[in-house]
Amino acid sequence: MAILKAVRGTRDLLPPETELWNKVEAAARSVFARYGFGEIRTPIFETTELFARGVGEETDIVSKEMYTWEDRGRAESDRGQSLTLRPENTAGVVRAYIEHKLGETGSLQKLFYIGPQFRRERPQRGRYRQFWQIGAEVIGPATSGSESPVRDAEVLEMLATLLDELGITGWRLALNSVGSAADRARYSTALREALAPVKHKMCEDNQRRAETNPLRVLDSKDENDQEIINGLPKIADFLGEDSREHFAQVRAALDACHVRYIIDPRLVRGLDYYTRTTFEFTVPDGSGLGTQNAILGGGRYDGLSEMLGGPKAPGIGFAIGEDRLILTLQAQAAEAHTSKLDAYIAPMGTAQNPAALQLASELRRAGLTVEVGDGSFRLKKSFEAANKVARKIIILGEDEVKSGVFTIKDFAKAEQTKIPHGDLATALKP
Ligand code: AMP
Repeated sequence: MAILKAVRGTRDLLPPETELWNKVEAAARSVFARYGFGEIRTPIFETTELFARGVGEETDIVSKEMYTWEDRGRAESDRGQSLTLRPENTAGVVRAYIEHKLGETGSLQKLFYIGPQFRRERPQRGRYRQFWQIGAEVIGPATSGSESPVRDAEVLEMLATLLDELGITGWRLALNSVGSAADRARYSTALREALAPVKHKMCEDNQRRAETNPLRVLDSKDENDQEIINGLPKIADFLGEDSREHFAQVRAALDACHVRYIIDPRLVRGLDYYTRTTFEFTVPDGSGLGTQNAILGGGRYDGLSEMLGGPKAPGIGFAIGEDRLILTLQAQAAEAHTSKLDAYIAPMGTAQNPAALQLASELRRAGLTVEVGDGSFRLKKSFEAANKVARKIIILGEDEVKSGVFTIKDFAKAEQTKIPHGDLATALKP
């Protein structure tokens, strides 16, 4: 029989790597808590319409990459419904914000999420069809201060703090402003006009984008098209007074917090809902990501709630590609990220198995991480097994059980000591 495998673009996360995933998530939770964020968990599937309206019909995500199916009604009276596995989480969070009338509280909502997203992209290193995002949104009625440039700067400063605390080195923050919806519309028109006489020289994708979504042309990595793209009008020249002032204030606050950034006039990002501030963090070559070097992206989306039929609720958010963050950490840190257990108990003879398990139970209840061997193992085998998973081995023979004094070997120090039962838990603490 053929062996069944995980679906292309999906993968299993196994120990010890999952330890690193948990560490990253714990660090994110700890940083988010310090900035006043609370967790939101939205469903993994939503109506297709949510993404069509929220993310935008013309985006690659909605036009090519979604896992969508027709969910049949079970009874004659039930209507079928088109459903989609979420390709991103902002639309879901804003839907929940509207549905639960969170705006009526009058206060700013600071929400974070951690979970899988699904896009039918061409799989490669750092790009999967099921991938994880750690993200957050700051959203609320304008009276709550949700439009303030302080929020943009705070989110960016928080991300810099998180990456630094995780030990990611050499990250780079690229920043831009895509202006208000009106600024964007004027810029879009200008781009379309500038592209009209030259687009026939461009790749097929860009020819299509020039018609349907000209801002997306700026995202293109196509080598041959770069010269044309670099010569296109710049968004900065189309920003209205308000957008310019907003962007200036975001930059001033970042400067005050000593968060470094570069302005990238081509950073418009693929999703339709962005307004004003857009940003992306990348990591340098040699960080294990190859061409997929963007570890997180985000921006402001002042009109998204209204696009989804909700009240005016300006907001800003980001999504970190957790898979890419992990790959970066693995590549950047030479030392293994896995920690060893506190102790391995080696029973000398099967008669000592119950005593070994009992000692393990006692130590585990005291908060230590412990593995138990088997009395049938020879001493050499016990030492080898212990050295693989634990920092110390406890020898448990008949004499030890009787005397209540155990022989412990510390592998790193290559030193052997005798420790009375009562002092074991303290002696084994890292
Ligand atoms: P986006 O939701 O497209 O703004 O993406 C935000 C971040 O999610 C990116 O910077 C990537 O780090 C990550 N990401 C997006 N798509 C994928 C994917 N297919 N596989 C892995 N990570 C992804």
